[in-house]
Amino acid sequence: MSLSQPTSRRRESAPDSTAPRTGNAAPNAKRKPRYTTDAARWAAVIARDKAADGRFYYAVRTTGVYCRPSCGARLALRENVSFHDSREAAEHAGFRPCKRCKPDKAGLAAEHAARIAAACRRIESADAMPSLEMLASEAGLSTYHFHRLFKSVTGLTPRAYANARRGERVRSTLPIASSVTEALYDAGFNSNGRFYAAAGDMLGMKPAVFRDGGANEVIRFAVAQCALGALLVAATPRGLCAISLGDDPDALVREFQDRFPQAQLIGADAKFERWVAQVIGFVETPRIGLGLPLDVRGTAFQQRVWQALRDIPPGQTASYSDVAERIGSPRSVRAVAMACAANTLAVAIPCHRVVRQNGDVSGYRWGVAKKRALLAREASEGARTPGASTGDVNA
Ligand SMILES: [Zn+2]
Repeated sequence: MSLSQPTSRRRESAPDSTAPRTGNAAPNAKRKPRYTTDAARWAAVIARDKAADGRFYYAVRTTGVYCRPSCGARLALRENVSFHDSREAAEHAGFRPCKRCKPDKAGLAAEHAARIAAACRRIESADAMPSLEMLASEAGLSTYHFHRLFKSVTGLTPRAYANARRGERVRSTLPIASSVTEALYDAGFNSNGRFYAAAGDMLGMKPAVFRDGGANEVIRFAVAQCALGALLVAATPRGLCAISLGDDPDALVREFQDRFPQAQLIGADAKFERWVAQVIGFVETPRIGLGLPLDVRGTAFQQRVWQALRDIPPGQTASYSDVAERIGSPRSVRAVAMACAANTLAVAIPCHRVVRQNGDVSGYRWGVAKKRALLAREASEGARTPGASTGDVNA
């Protein structure tokens, strides 16, 4: 893969004030727009200039195909070449995509996603968190651009991603490790203190409690009725850990008990009743936002998927492959679907907004009828109320 500096910033999200600002913060800003004349474009084609990819396409009259500027195919004669601003324009002019440089396949966005995916793999395989400078240089980007791109693709900063990933390693190692210390060294922590400081965030409980299968963990829960049927709401001291929908309240409780066999389950108190009321209001009208902390427990991959789901506004839907693209793992469509199915916080993590590519409402943990009802509600609410965030996540 080329490590050239991308010259387009159009795919990036809103400015991120947390991104570090370095001396070469905006290398692209110094460059004036190029490739505006045929002469400049032809020069880019001769140079097979990767930086020109996505800025224009060139087509060859004698072969009937169009290419990215960097295509490795034999250089055509200038007199047979025409330039097009977009692939649509080239195709409209009757040219078909080159089989070699595949100009019809996603370009810059896919390349960015691939670079970030490579950085994710790099973080996962490293014993210690690689520096931001090192990750950026390996991706061929400035630290500033890399940090922004990483966050827009994964929903997490590189450090948060590394922490989530280490948490995943600890979670998988703790139950089989001979000691907590062994598990934490295996996960790349080099001091007990740092591990215990991070453990609550990663595991949702103290390490020793986690090893015991969640024994003695206190979880409050209540079952209520809402417009969609029965609703079970449960919370640890850290935040909501379950929101389930169903038709049979007893079945909801049984399923919940099966999920937390070792925990100490207790009924609602006055404060928790207020939370339940808030959840009911939110489930019936997601647009109002939740505003309660969530105790999100999942692998780093699941957390990336769930973060992407929370970015889908009420009233809108995305396909499983859209979500896979957005988290930088375009080939993980099946894993995305599994992460959606593993979600235990109905509506708060809006997995109901993910539908099949053709728009079909597919499976839903709490029943396809409930998914249809939620989507219909959000569609009809659409024009009435302004958008609101879906709540704080304490993940
Ligand atoms: Zn080509």
